[in-house]
Amino acid sequence: MAEKFLVETSARHVHLTNADIETLFGKGATLTNKKDLSQPGQFACEERVTLVGPKKQIERVSILGPARKATQVELSFTDARTLGISAPVRESGDVAGSAPLKLVGPAGEVEISEGAIIAKRHIHMTPADAERFGVKDKDIVSVKLDSADRSTIFGDVVVRVSDKFALAMHIDTDEANAACAFGEFYGEIVK
Ligand SMILES: [Zn+2]
Repeated sequence: MAEKFLVETSARHVHLTNADIETLFGKGATLTNKKDLSQPGQFACEERVTLVGPKKQIERVSILGPARKATQVELSFTDARTLGISAPVRESGDVAGSAPLKLVGPAGEVEISEGAIIAKRHIHMTPADAERFGVKDKDIVSVKLDSADRSTIFGDVVVRVSDKFALAMHIDTDEANAACAFGEFYGEIVK
């Protein structure tokens, strides 16, 4: 039987540069760790922002720390539709030519010319995990999620290998809803 791994749902969230943190939250502001995430060093923050699209806005959106080199907004297709923007499916960090958006914080606002994406579903792995699964960085695999009422096989899942990662698959809220992948949930690679 294939080895299973944790499948986590990433709700909409924002990664910010230090400059944008100061614009949104005030001079000298830094992010406050509210909760550590499964990936080592990554954390959910106390701070929240409002996303403002041409159609509607979404309030109290989570920020994930630490600060990054480029501000990035990760949405579901449902969120993008709510905001009224057309965002592409991309791997985290690949924001060139992605959708523009306005972010509003308590101290100011930031208009990004690109950076709003729908995260491509992916599995974080260590090199040792990758060897066990017989895959390598950037491989595209299919993952089966067995749920009570909506078992689903997701194709186009990118494998991301780094010794800084912990083994977990990340899907967005649309994907979790589609597969009934709620609570503590596990998947397996199918060939
Ligand atoms: Zn991830």
